[in-house]
Amino acid sequence: MTDSHDHNFASSAKPKNFSLSLILGFVIFFSIINFQYSAPVIPIFGFHGIINIKNNASAFYSGEMHYPKEEVEVFLEKLIINNYWFLTTQDLYDFFLTKSKKISAEQYKQKPIMISFDDGYKTVHTNLLPILHKLEKKYGKKVKVVLFINPGNLSRPGSLNSTNLSCKELREGLKKGFYDIQSHGLNHKDLTKLNRRELVKELVQARTDLRICTQDLDPDQQVASHFAYPYGAYNQEVEDFVSKYYLSSYLYNNGILNYGCFKNHYQIPRLMINRHNTAKELIDIAETFYPIDNKNFHQGKC
Ligand SMILES: [Zn+2]
Repeated sequence: MTDSHDHNFASSAKPKNFSLSLILGFVIFFSIINFQYSAPVIPIFGFHGIINIKNNASAFYSGEMHYPKEEVEVFLEKLIINNYWFLTTQDLYDFFLTKSKKISAEQYKQKPIMISFDDGYKTVHTNLLPILHKLEKKYGKKVKVVLFINPGNLSRPGSLNSTNLSCKELREGLKKGFYDIQSHGLNHKDLTKLNRRELVKELVQARTDLRICTQDLDPDQQVASHFAYPYGAYNQEVEDFVSKYYLSSYLYNNGILNYGCFKNHYQIPRLMINRHNTAKELIDIAETFYPIDNKNFHQGKC
């Protein structure tokens, strides 16, 4: 569907692995000199589908951006063991961007992180959701993941062999408390190439459709309150329109959120994850950015 486009866009914007290599280099450098980075940063990981590499049928998902199931399980398990706080988009907004909510004593001990999955691949339901169940059973802890969904691309009831999630599947993960469902535009269009009428439709209809799918499960209307630009593509006009309908918006640019200095809620950076990044690399990235003493970190000093 959209992964190759996402990939190509990202590639044309920046060499694919260049920035992540820089981040990994940074991680290795600080590990060697045994120094803990203490700026208030939150890594936000951007995944797409989750593949079962042992299953030949998954060869269908040959895109570079789909991530192996075994690796994601190792990654998430390690995050649970190391006491991470799996943020929803509303948590990030309330506790760190606007600071309108106060971090509790319990949350204070945890390391905030966000794990997101774009484009609504069915493999989130078939391969990721069972892992989230398994980890909850084992550790008594719910891993919350953010899904950026294009409701125009959801599979219709009765459609066979669709590679996309259905509304029913979204509802299942939402009901169980694993999913934070947010908007990725109606049809995954490059918003910078649309006229104003088309742009507004992509933004508004996406929100409406996602809320219709989930309304009885979402009394506070937290579904589709936040946005991720399809292909990571945006300009001033797109940003202005997104800000009329959504509280915040996410990029796909291999950046790390330094929320102490952060001013623009419509340019939240995310790390681009592809199948070649091992679980160990991802854990190293997450761990390096947290100081041993959480004090400065949580105060959000710039
Ligand atoms: Zn996308």
